[in-house]
Amino acid sequence: MSTFQELGLNEDLLNAITDLGFEKPSEVQAKAIPILLEEDKDLVALAQTGTGKTAAFGFPMLQKIDVDSRTTQGLILSPTRELCLQITNELKNYGKYCKGLNVVAIYGGSSISDQARQVKRGAQIIVATPGRMKDMISRNMVDISKIQYSVLDEADEMLNMGFYEDITDILSHTPDDKSTWLFSATMPREVATIAKKFMYDPTEITVGNKNESTSNVTHEYYLVNARDRYRALKRLADANPDIFSVIFCRTKRDTQKVAENLIEDGYSAGALHGDLSQNQRDLVMKSFRNNQIQMLVATDVAARGIDVDDITHVINYQLPDEIETYTHRSGRTGRAGKTGVSMVIVSKSELRKIKSIERIIKKQFEKKDVPSGTDIVEVQLMSLANKIHTTETNHEIDKHLDSINELFADTDKDELIKKFFSVEFNRFFDYYQKSKDISAVESRGDKDGGRDYGKQSNDSRYFINVGSKDGFDWMKLKDFLKEQLELGRDDVFKVDVKESFSFFNTEKTLQEKVLAFFTDFKHEGRFVNVEVSENRGRSGGGRRDRGRGRGGNDRRSGGGNRRRDDRGDRRSNDRRSSGGSGNRSDRRSSRRSDDNRSDRGQDRKFNDSRGDRRPESSNSGSDRPRRSRRRD
Ligand code: ADP
Ligand code: MG
Repeated sequence: MSTFQELGLNEDLLNAITDLGFEKPSEVQAKAIPILLEEDKDLVALAQTGTGKTAAFGFPMLQKIDVDSRTTQGLILSPTRELCLQITNELKNYGKYCKGLNVVAIYGGSSISDQARQVKRGAQIIVATPGRMKDMISRNMVDISKIQYSVLDEADEMLNMGFYEDITDILSHTPDDKSTWLFSATMPREVATIAKKFMYDPTEITVGNKNESTSNVTHEYYLVNARDRYRALKRLADANPDIFSVIFCRTKRDTQKVAENLIEDGYSAGALHGDLSQNQRDLVMKSFRNNQIQMLVATDVAARGIDVDDITHVINYQLPDEIETYTHRSGRTGRAGKTGVSMVIVSKSELRKIKSIERIIKKQFEKKDVPSGTDIVEVQLMSLANKIHTTETNHEIDKHLDSINELFADTDKDELIKKFFSVEFNRFFDYYQKSKDISAVESRGDKDGGRDYGKQSNDSRYFINVGSKDGFDWMKLKDFLKEQLELGRDDVFKVDVKESFSFFNTEKTLQEKVLAFFTDFKHEGRFVNVEVSENRGRSGGGRRDRGRGRGGNDRRSGGGNRRRDDRGDRRSNDRRSSGGSGNRSDRRSSRRSDDNRSDRGQDRKFNDSRGDRRPESSNSGSDRPRRSRRRD
């Protein structure tokens, strides 16, 4: 393989490359860079995510532009704000020794006049999302009439997102004699059309097979009843204690629900979808990037920008409508030379889709069973053992050692280990001992797409006559209720906000308190009415649920013995984590609550109250009911 020097890059870039620690060019870089440096030609490059495309166009562009001029010479279009910022950042890194270089990012959701000002200061390179770019052109805030190089990055995704017209419009403002470089992971017809229409005799390079998914990703599917989807998801997570994953759902609603339920079940999860504000999305992404969120539940559109290198698993909670999208999903893992697993939770009726995907990715799926309770217990136990083994000893304990030793004078090592592990592990063990394995698929209807989000028995379910139209989302309503009723952090759950009304659950023991409080309560001048929903939080969805919940709110439907399984939870994990060996997953778990919350504008009190919940030994008031509920 060649070196960066041999590709013809200049000293400034080579120095930056040394700083970045890139040892040799990736395949797409080795192929594209010499072509782009040598002549001003159009290029179509097909390469999977994570193959280093940014540098493949970034280095040549940086070398070719004139940094002494303040004219905009390069334009890079990319599908999302997230990617746009990432490319900008990368280019700044690559060009850190190019004196006078100015790269500006242009994207929606942020001040347009600030961006215009930055451009005015003299941006040689603009990295933009199509929507905002078009907007700025129409307002005369940018001048791209002199650009020499245009890049269409992730062209397939841009077209998937419906940017065809915007791209056409933008390119019509650029000179005819510029070079156009198109980068894409796949080559659907639409991309070929773009190439034909906007490019002159492009050189084509392909890295790996066209449309083939990343080679270091293995693909697995898990056949379950649609109603077991959520339980299966939890088991997959439990069987992989160090999981760092993106979980894909089909709709925003499902995305939010799955994330909500994972959070409530004690996982460090977060939601990413288009109904969140840009600011909320940024915060979720930041937490994810910092490994503070272990499971990011996302829609396909929202996940377009996710470019995090060490994702261990992609979980397809539901398969995408367009099977081509699967390639994008699985490409989120196995990046930067690492291995990754793409898992699909699939119901019988969707099995044929697996075959179609296999044809597209040119790879076989491995059919796997959802991990059994025994498997999970073993994995968790060994993971705990490993954590203990690698924990740095706290020598504050030394001074108590004599008294402790005295207590255990008659206990041998094996016995001591067993006792010690029992403290940490019994609850987890009990839960999985009791829970049935999720296995064969029954033939009856699993067409609902798996809205199974868990349920519980000793709960009361309430109807409340406020909803999204009163400015509530589930987080806000939950906080509102907790604040008004002075409840602990876990006392209100399964909050389900509709337009003009909502549902929520508490422990049955709190029912009296809740109803009493709302007998005469006004919110913004309106009486707030709370009633116990007829199904009392049990299975079956209840008449009220069905009657009012327009969006097919059947998530609590289903059989009785599932209940316990669904609540199989991470509490014991939390405890272990908080025991504190300080490794990565520990940090994630122990910080997650604040992070999940702070991005949703939680108040101080809320965050504070969360702080004390982790070491279970602390047994804070708000913890108790929840634990007893879950653990029976
Ligand atoms: P793509 O656009 O193809 O998805 P990126 O350009 O985002 O891929 O690169 C993926 C990751 O690989 C980034 O973290 C980037 O810094 C890194 N990378 C790129 N080129 C190299 C290289 N030659 N050696 C090592 N790492 C690289
Ligand atoms: Mg890229």
